[in-house]
Amino acid sequence: MTETAQEMVRSDAEWRAHLTPEQYRILREKDTERPFTGALTQNHETGDYHCAGCGTLLFMSGAKFDSGCGWPSFMIPADSKVVEEHEDISFGMRRVEVTCARCGGHLGHVFPDGPKPTGLRYCINSASLTFTRQEPHSTNQEP
Ligand code: FE
Repeated sequence: MTETAQEMVRSDAEWRAHLTPEQYRILREKDTERPFTGALTQNHETGDYHCAGCGTLLFMSGAKFDSGCGWPSFMIPADSKVVEEHEDISFGMRRVEVTCARCGGHLGHVFPDGPKPTGLRYCINSASLTFTRQEPHSTNQEP
């Protein structure tokens, strides 16, 4: 993994205390949740997807699409600076790993088979994300 200047650095014990066992296994040990099991794969609500490790806004619902791959899929991050990409040659494949720029947490991989205009598919573990639903604007008029 590329060495970066991460804003949030926690010890292994701190991460274990902060994350669920599944989140720890994926974010800190680069595991992958089984396809079609993640809580957010089929989420179609409007809102924001934050890093489960540090809370950084990573993806927005407008960029989410139904890829059929079994993991939440996005065309583009919320901002190019919030994620980092690293060559990953594990398991005999050449892939591009995506991590959170702030805490270094493993998010998933990005593949060049997404829809236009980006042509990218950010294939992200549900366990690496927390979703915040955007409340519909109230129609109540304050007096
Ligand atoms: Fe993070």
